[in-house]
Amino acid sequence: MMDTHCHIDFEDFDNDRDEVIKRAKDKLDNVIVSGYSNDSNLDVLQLSKDNPGFIYPTFGFHPVSSQNSTEEELKLAHENIIKHIDEIVAIGEVGMDYFYVTDKTLREKQQEIFTSFLELANEYNVPIVMHVRDCEKKTVNIIENYEEIPYFVFHCYGGSLKTAKRIMNMDNAYMSFSTMVCYSKKHQDLIEKIDLDYILTETDSPYLAMTKDERNEPVNVVKAVEKIAEIKNIDISSVDEITTNNARRIFNI
Ligand SMILES: [Zn+2]
Repeated sequence: MMDTHCHIDFEDFDNDRDEVIKRAKDKLDNVIVSGYSNDSNLDVLQLSKDNPGFIYPTFGFHPVSSQNSTEEELKLAHENIIKHIDEIVAIGEVGMDYFYVTDKTLREKQQEIFTSFLELANEYNVPIVMHVRDCEKKTVNIIENYEEIPYFVFHCYGGSLKTAKRIMNMDNAYMSFSTMVCYSKKHQDLIEKIDLDYILTETDSPYLAMTKDERNEPVNVVKAVEKIAEIKNIDISSVDEITTNNARRIFNI
């Protein structure tokens, strides 16, 4: 099993990060920690170096937290990706968020920044992990133009079934589902209709825990896998095998 997207570099884990990683190691094959800012990218790189063969890093620039970023910050993000291109397993999380960002100018800036990372992924032939909210259809229209990007991942997919079908048709695009499937009817309905061949599992820790006040952690991805098996009415080991193989293929690990 894999947690393909989490943020255990956050300070929420400062007091017990080692124990959190140990609990994950007991149950999971791998954990992918996604950077979201220039500082975070270096932190996730260090985490991967401290846990070789278990934690893998992706370098990103989060669409919401970087909405007021400067040209210099963006340039540095690009430079660091290029510098560490052999160490990272994908570019992300990057993307567009129309839920939190409603201002038209800021949305245009988001798209420009997102496109700059798509171009980078296209140039270096690396997968891209995307944070997309309330603009999934638009995002599919954009990414279809990048033919040299090997794989696309919609992290925490929450779009429509219609767009999910388009994503499945791309054949190199995947939708990742978190522990949210345990309690969100919308995500449960999507899981029912989306082929396992296009599904990944994640926690987005520390977010999306079973209750609002709880802190999520990577080992909880087991709960997501169990729920997916229940919804699809197949055994847990099959869900585990298919989704883990999907992740291995995408991230080449
Ligand atoms: Zn995230």
